Amino acid sequence: MKFRIGIGYDLHRLGPATSLILGGIQIPHEKGLIGHSDGDVLSHAITDALLGACGLGNIGEMFPDTDARFKGVSSMQFLQKTAEFIRKKGYEIGNIDSNILAERPKLLPHFPAMQARIAEVLGIPADNVHVKAKTMEHLGIVGTEEAIAAEAVALVYLE
Ligand code: MG
Repeated sequence: MKFRIGIGYDLHRLGPATSLILGGIQIPHEKGLIGHSDGDVLSHAITDALLGACGLGNIGEMFPDTDARFKGVSSMQFLQKTAEFIRKKGYEIGNIDSNILAERPKLLPHFPAMQARIAEVLGIPADNVHVKAKTMEHLGIVGTEEAIAAEAVALVYLE
C-alpha cells in the first residue's frame, strides 16, 4: 500500500514541577507531567501514530518503561528513533496532525516552536506538522487539571 495512516493517543498525570514539556518545548507552568521519560504526551501520541501507520507496534513495546535506558530521557529520542525505523521500512513521513487536551496553560503561543521542533527531529518540513489544543470545559481529569492528554494522526507513504 502506497499510503498508510496511524492514530496515537496518550495521557499523563500532572504533578509538582517547574516546567511542562510538550512537543519537545519547555513551557513555564506550576505543574509538570509525570512519566518514566519526560512525560511529553504530544510526542508520545505522535510516536504511536507513526508506529501504527507502519505496523511497527506501539511506544510501550518499542521503548518500554521497564527499561532503565529510557528513564528521564527526552521524548525527542523516541521520535527520532521512530523516524529511523520508518525509513528502514521504506516509508517516508507525510504529515502529522494533533490535538493537545489541556485546561491550562494557554498553549497557542507555543505551537510554532513545537511544530518546528517535532519536524526537525523527524526530518520533515515544519509545514507538515500541525499542533492544536482544546480545553475540556473543566470536565473530567483533564478539565480539573489532573492530567494532560494528546491525540495525533500521521500519514506515511512508500518512497
Ligand atoms: Mg506516554
